Amino acid sequence: RHISERQRIEDRFRKANEFNETIIKTIPLGMDILDEEGNILYLNERLEAVLGKDAIGKTCWAVYKDSGERCEGCPLPQGIEIGKTRSNEVDNMAGGRTFSISYTGMMYQNKKAILRVIEDITERKAREEELRESEKKYSTLVENSLTGIYIDQDEKIVFANNRFATIYRYPKEELIDIETWRLVHPEDRALTAEMRARRLKEEDAPLEYEARGLTRDGEVIWIRRRNRRIEYKGRPAILGNIVDITEQREAEEELRKMNEELKAFVRIVSHDLKTPITAIQGFSSRLLKQYQDTMEEKDVRYLEQIKASAHRMEVFVADLLALSRIGRVASHFEDVPSLEIVKEVVSSLQDRLERNGIELAIAHNLPTTYCDSERVYQVFQNLLVNAIKYMGDTAHPKIKIGYEEGKEFHQFYVSDNGTGIDSKYHRTIFEMFQRVETIRKLGDEEGTGLGLAIVDRVVRNHGGEVWVESEKGKGATFYFTLSKNLNRVPHP
Ligand code: ATP
Ligand code: MG
Repeated sequence: RHISERQRIEDRFRKANEFNETIIKTIPLGMDILDEEGNILYLNERLEAVLGKDAIGKTCWAVYKDSGERCEGCPLPQGIEIGKTRSNEVDNMAGGRTFSISYTGMMYQNKKAILRVIEDITERKAREEELRESEKKYSTLVENSLTGIYIDQDEKIVFANNRFATIYRYPKEELIDIETWRLVHPEDRALTAEMRARRLKEEDAPLEYEARGLTRDGEVIWIRRRNRRIEYKGRPAILGNIVDITEQREAEEELRKMNEELKAFVRIVSHDLKTPITAIQGFSSRLLKQYQDTMEEKDVRYLEQIKASAHRMEVFVADLLALSRIGRVASHFEDVPSLEIVKEVVSSLQDRLERNGIELAIAHNLPTTYCDSERVYQVFQNLLVNAIKYMGDTAHPKIKIGYEEGKEFHQFYVSDNGTGIDSKYHRTIFEMFQRVETIRKLGDEEGTGLGLAIVDRVVRNHGGEVWVESEKGKGATFYFTLSKNLNRVPHP
C-alpha cells in the first residue's frame, strides 16, 4: 500500500514533467538553460533548429555573440536566485540582432541554473522605430501647418493643432473635449450641423464652406473650412482644415461698401450735372442763333466751343452713368443671334463708316449666344467706334468682325488696320479714363476713356475676357470671349 502511494506520486510528477516538456519544446520562443559558468545545458526545439545540437556544452557568449564577449547586463557570474526572474533587452547579438531575454533562477539536474526565454525582436524594433519616425514626421507637419487642423468626433474636438488653437485663441489643452458648437457663431450653428451630418453620410470629395466662428472671448471670426470623413480610433469622425479669413472678409465688405458709395456718388453727380449742362447747351445755342450775324467771328467761335464742350460733358456723364449701371441694372439673359446685334450696331454707324471710306467685313459664322444682348451691343459698339476713331490716315481702311468657336467660349474679334497701340498700353486701356495720347485725324473727337472699361465689365459679367493684339502703326485686333456655360456662372 505504502509503495503504491509513492508510485502514484511519482507518476503524477512524471506526467507533470512530460507536460512541461511538451510546452517547452513547442513554444514559439527560444528557451535554453545555462549553468552558473554560462555553459548551455539545454536548448528547446526552436533554438536547436537554429543553433544545432553541438551548441550544447559551449558557453552562451561563444554561441550567441559574434564577438564572443558577454552581453551587457549578463547576470553571470553572480547567477540568479531560485524562483526570481529578470529581463533584459540586448542588441548586438549575432548578426546584429536584438533579443529580449528573461532569466529565471532554477534547479536543473540538481544544480543551480538559469532558464532563459529568448525572443528575437529585431524586426519589431525596426517597425516601431519606423512608426515613431513617421509619427514624428506627421505630427511636425500637422503642428507646423499654416491651417488649423482638428478632429471632431461626436460633436467634440478630440484633436487640434497649434494653429487651430491660435485661430480660436484657446490654450490647446482647453480645446480637447470641448463641444464643437461652442466654436461656432449662434447663427451659423444650424449650417455647421447640417454640413457635419452631410459629411458623415456621404464619403466623397471634401466639403468646403465658410461660416462664422467664436473665439474664446466671444469675438466673431470668419472661417473657411474643408471637411473630410475619417475613421478615428475605429469610429467615424470628421477631419477638418480651417483658415481664418476674417481679414479678407472685412476687406471685401469694405470694398463693397466703397463701391456702393462710389456708384451712388456717380449717380448723384451725373444727375446733378445734367441740368447745368443742358442749360449751357441750350443758352449757347440760343445765343448763337440770335446773334451769329451781329457778333464778331472770334466770339462766335468761343460760343461754339462752349457748346461743343458742353456736349462733350454730356457724353461723358452719359458714359459714366452707363458704366455705373453695368452689373447694377437687372440683366436680361437670352439666346440671341450675335449677327443681329452686330447688324444693329453697324447700321447705327453706317454714316461714319461711309464718310471715312471704311471697308467692313462681317464673318458669316457669328453664332447664337446666351447673353444680355443690350450689353453685348455696347461691346460691339465700343469696339467698332474705336476701330473707326483710331483709324488714322490709313490708305485702305478696313475693319473685320470675326468669330472662332472655342470649347468653353464664344470668341469674337474686331480688327482694324488703323494706328494700332503700343504694347505698353495693352493693359491700361481697359481701365477707366485711360487713353493713349495719339494724333487723332478724324475730326475733333475726344473720348473719356471709358469705352473699353465698359467692354471689360460686360465681358466679365458674361464669364469672358477681353484683350488686344496690336503693334503701333499696324492696326489692332480686340478679342473677347463669352462663356458658353453661362447658366452655371453666377451673374449679377
Ligand atoms: P470713349 O470710348 O470713352 O469715348 P476712348 O475711346 O478714348 O473714349 P476707350 O474706348 O476706353 O476710350 O479706349 C482707350 C484708349 O485705347 C483710346 O483712347 C485709344 O488710345 C486706345 N484704343 C482703343 N481702341 C483702339 C483701336 N482700335 N486702335 C487704336 N487705339 C485704340
Ligand atoms: Mg472708345
